[in-house]
Amino acid sequence: MHVLVTGGAGFIGSHIVTYHMDRGDNVHVVDNLLTGSLDNIAQYSDNSNFRFDEADILIWPDLDKAVSWADRIYHMAGVVGIFKVIEEPTRVLATNIAGSERVLRFVRDSGWNPVILMASSSEVYGTSGRSTLDEERTLVVTPDVNSRWNYAISKMADEALGLSFVQKYGLRISILRIFNVIGSRQMGQYGMVVPRFIQQAVSSEPVTVYGDGTQTRSFCDVRDAVVMFDKLAENPSANGQIVNVGKDEEISIQALAELIIERANSSSKIVHVSYEDAYGEGFVDVRRRKPDLKKLFKLIKYKLQWSLERTIDDLIAEQRAKSSEGKKEG
Ligand code: UDP
Repeated sequence: MHVLVTGGAGFIGSHIVTYHMDRGDNVHVVDNLLTGSLDNIAQYSDNSNFRFDEADILIWPDLDKAVSWADRIYHMAGVVGIFKVIEEPTRVLATNIAGSERVLRFVRDSGWNPVILMASSSEVYGTSGRSTLDEERTLVVTPDVNSRWNYAISKMADEALGLSFVQKYGLRISILRIFNVIGSRQMGQYGMVVPRFIQQAVSSEPVTVYGDGTQTRSFCDVRDAVVMFDKLAENPSANGQIVNVGKDEEISIQALAELIIERANSSSKIVHVSYEDAYGEGFVDVRRRKPDLKKLFKLIKYKLQWSLERTIDDLIAEQRAKSSEGKKEG
């Protein structure tokens, strides 16, 4: 199979690459390396099944060739990470919406009909999450617009674009509302909580819980996520559908901090940082985020393999190895 991964040098994208390379597929990655990293795909650079283009999907001249080559496209390219979103509010909208529009338009014009998986996000649920989040609920973005919601707005636009290309041109697209995926290669510098807490705990620095820590998230190991993506792509009934992908086990951020400190056997202390100090004025956090996975498990059969503890242990081991390498080099 020929697999095109936009954003394939990023965190989730590079795990999709690994999954398909391990299966012997041909994989083509396009990534502008804004937040992605060559290190994530370096292991394949000499592999004849693999090809990489450093390019921006907004202007890449070879996009038409790449989409006509692919049997399956994972469209993962996008500006991500809350710090990045706040820092570059206009770029988020432009890249995420115009990039998706260009990819889908080129597929339509190619006359070829690959299966497309588009990355959306649980962010589209906004602050409407008092209960478990299902795909049918009305999406509300609060009017006190601060740039945090630009990411959600861009993903809502991507979803609408995807559905329109399905309806009007018969493209085969599934939209993935991805919930807090974690794992190796995820970076903390753009805000993601798990790599930040792991790094802090391993280096015995204070673990920074924002707000009072009662907000919850439901974390899913990326190694589970990519298998579920693949299974969705294989099911024609997922075509034209918006589907939550994640794990429905909820944990508070305070409990997450305690768990990571405990698993790392760390002397770190938890410090509470105000949202204002963390993200700037006017920031509204999502209090609760837990996916309803009924639709997902109607479409695919899969038992998640990785417990949160196991994922955290793997990440701690990896961070320790990185730290000791850094020390040796230093
Ligand atoms: N968070 C935190 N400390 C950090 C980074 C994040 O307490 O150093 C919190 C953040 O405010 C949010 C939760 O962890 O309540 C998850 O944040 P992340 O950006 O990973 O995911 P998202 O908010 O997009 O679900």
